[in-house]
Amino acid sequence: MRIMNTSTSSAAVVRTRFAPSPTGFLHLGGARTALYSWAYARHFGGTFVLRIEDTDLERSTPEAVQAILDGMAWLGLKPDEGPFYQTQRMDRYAEIIQQLLESGHAYHCYSTPEEIDAMRERARAAGLKPRYDGTWRPEPGKTLPQPPANRQPVVRFRNPLDGEVGWNDMVKGPIRIANTELDDLVIARQDGTPTYNFCVVVDDWDMRITHVIRGDDHINNTPRQINILRALGAELPQYGHVPMILGPDGEVLSKRHGAVSVMQYHDDGYLPDAMVNYLARLGWSHGDDELFSRQQLVEWFDGTHLSRSAAQWDPKKLNWVNAHYLRQLSPEQLAPRVVERITRRGGELENAAPITEVMALLAPRAETLEELAENAMLFYGKFDPVAIDAELVEKHLTDSARGYLAAFVREVQDIEWSPENLSAAIKSVLKAKQLKMPQLAIPLRVAVTGRTQTPSIDMVLALLGKDVVLARLHALQK
Ligand code: GLU
Repeated sequence: MRIMNTSTSSAAVVRTRFAPSPTGFLHLGGARTALYSWAYARHFGGTFVLRIEDTDLERSTPEAVQAILDGMAWLGLKPDEGPFYQTQRMDRYAEIIQQLLESGHAYHCYSTPEEIDAMRERARAAGLKPRYDGTWRPEPGKTLPQPPANRQPVVRFRNPLDGEVGWNDMVKGPIRIANTELDDLVIARQDGTPTYNFCVVVDDWDMRITHVIRGDDHINNTPRQINILRALGAELPQYGHVPMILGPDGEVLSKRHGAVSVMQYHDDGYLPDAMVNYLARLGWSHGDDELFSRQQLVEWFDGTHLSRSAAQWDPKKLNWVNAHYLRQLSPEQLAPRVVERITRRGGELENAAPITEVMALLAPRAETLEELAENAMLFYGKFDPVAIDAELVEKHLTDSARGYLAAFVREVQDIEWSPENLSAAIKSVLKAKQLKMPQLAIPLRVAVTGRTQTPSIDMVLALLGKDVVLARLHALQK
């Protein structure tokens, strides 16, 4: 027995689903749909179902299923039920097709593809919408043609001829479509396999889905699905069609705009909390709030304030959000997230600067884990004084600069190696030689790190360690 779901306050019965087709990776649009469905269910203490729509055997792959599961796990979107696989529910679809045939809501159609093409052509020529002409559609008092021998029929849904289908979309508001706009949809192919729209209907019904939140590329399917649900005597779910995500240039987001796979963002050093925050905000708002926790999202996400217009992907804003979440992590929490990225770059962590201290130094200025790892190579990368860029050597390691560096070496030879003492040593050389900071700091950076820019030089030298710094400076004197 299904319970009415006319009001969003019917907390306990909310059941949402994410129903991806496993034909590629989990893309950003799909991830956002999943997130909204998840957050809506969580908000009402309901159930979030994962359904894999894998009936397209040519395009569905186990790798794509895994990519979807990985993407959702990374984002922390744990389904309460599922994954259910449509390919495992074929008997159930066949059963409902039989039921619809028996109740007169569906019929066998023996028209060949060539005949269908011809019908469409005739309609087009008459200035009408190209459509199936109803040759095999049973009507009271109509005599149907004799089924041709040796031809397998398809099964068509007997769509109402008049009236309209309407629903109050959670995102777009009221939508109405005249039934004259809708064809008699094929629900089973000649080989008996059910078609896409039909499986969605049976599943949403069987899984007692109360709220269907999905991309607005499905909006044309909704009236067809509603008619089939009605024929089955099913309670209708509420529908919410979320607009597409556009790239920064206003075109629908695609590979052209860079990464569209969620896991690519993992690889690129984004944090799942940042992605969740950013994706949630892309098409939904809560006042002026830009930064919010998962818990706040769940608290606030009640199906209102979903944007009707398409959202625009903004990499700069994503970086800003990510930087915020990076700063929420302690150096101890950052370290394990960055170590693997450093070793992948060939970095050596043994006998080098302590990773937590390096994180403490670099995190305030980084936007992604990848950027952190890249910057950390300053401490863990191989360094060969001979390999310092010749132009830098010529420009910054002049004879006079080498003289300042020699003075610096004398100054620090016997100090206890700490940022404070290093800073004092630098100041003392500046004073003795009447120099400005860059006149010493830049040659020091080039000689010790091969770069002209680094975080504060006293911290960098302190973390590199006395032996390393002095060895690099001595190498220069040779
Ligand atoms: N399987 C469909 C897709 O991946 C979604 C179907 C739905 O949400 O109803 O686009």
